[in-house]
Amino acid sequence: MSGDAAAVVAAVEAVADRIQAEREHLTDLDSAIGDADHGGNMARGWAEAADTVAELDDPDVQTVVKTAGKTVLSEVGGASGPLYGGSLVFASQELEGGLTPETAVAFAETYLEKVQDRGDASVGDQTMVDALTPAVHTFKKSVETDDLPVLEAFAKAVAAAEIGVQFTVPIRASKGRASYLGWRSVGHQDPGATSTLYIMEELLETAADE
Ligand code: ADP
Ligand code: MG
Ligand code: MG
Repeated sequence: MSGDAAAVVAAVEAVADRIQAEREHLTDLDSAIGDADHGGNMARGWAEAADTVAELDDPDVQTVVKTAGKTVLSEVGGASGPLYGGSLVFASQELEGGLTPETAVAFAETYLEKVQDRGDASVGDQTMVDALTPAVHTFKKSVETDDLPVLEAFAKAVAAAEIGVQFTVPIRASKGRASYLGWRSVGHQDPGATSTLYIMEELLETAADE
């Protein structure tokens, strides 16, 4: 297995561990504005994804990402299964040539586009898109315009996602279950934006360890 593929397998394991550790917190967030299943949904999906990618025989990066996405898609119901899993599967095509700063940016952009296509949410709707959008824009700009090393660019993207998560608190949900609450969704942090941040933090940690 290439070093990059092994790193991506390790990243999926790190994500599964983190989501497991945050399971209750994510459930609490979802119980305030949804149906209290985001922690359980995500923990089950990512644990299964980690097991599945660990068993692949000499995979390349694209195969690891695609397999993780397929597993999340099949294990996780609700809104987040297709949004996370389906978008990972679709964006994995950008990694056919392996992992480079260019393919990483293409992957991030395609992932965001797919999440927006599927969920029809924009920035300001109090969803994962609020964390993802500033992260992807910051990553692209840091790599392509500022010419930063990819790890530094990704660290900036994580910082942008964190601001995006905070941005979900004072706004009103217009997509997903939380939108049923109308104005009562104001003042609550979005669970999917939060899990997006945790996943990004683990990807950064794993990449920094390489
Ligand atoms: P469900 O709402 O079906 O129970 P989850 O609780 O697992 O699914 O996931 C909820 C999260 O999914 C929300 O916090 C939000 O970030 C995200 N989400 C829901 N609907 C959309 C949408 N249309 N577009 C983008 N993200 C969405
Ligand atoms: Mg839910
Ligand atoms: Mg649900």
